[in-house]
Amino acid sequence: MRLVVDLNRCQGYAQCAFLAPDVFAMHGEESLLYDPQADASRRDEVARAVAACPVQAIFVEGLDGTDGTSAPPSGGDL
Ligand code: SF4
Repeated sequence: MRLVVDLNRCQGYAQCAFLAPDVFAMHGEESLLYDPQADASRRDEVARAVAACPVQAIFVEGLDGTDGTSAPPSGGDL
């Protein structure tokens, strides 16, 4: 899973560090450290952290169980 936190948006509320401590950690009062390549086994925790972030600063690819590289849509029947 690939993970990005918009640190301009992040206000250091630490909800994510509380809910997914293996992925997010506060460093000092306001700076957030996180694992941008969080293991898929952390998916549930990360999903909770995403939902709990008060400013929607956490973006995740692959949260739905894919590796984040969705196949191009097939079709073109028009
Ligand atoms: S929950 Fe959101 S605002 Fe709070 S530390 Fe995590 S990313 Fe930042």
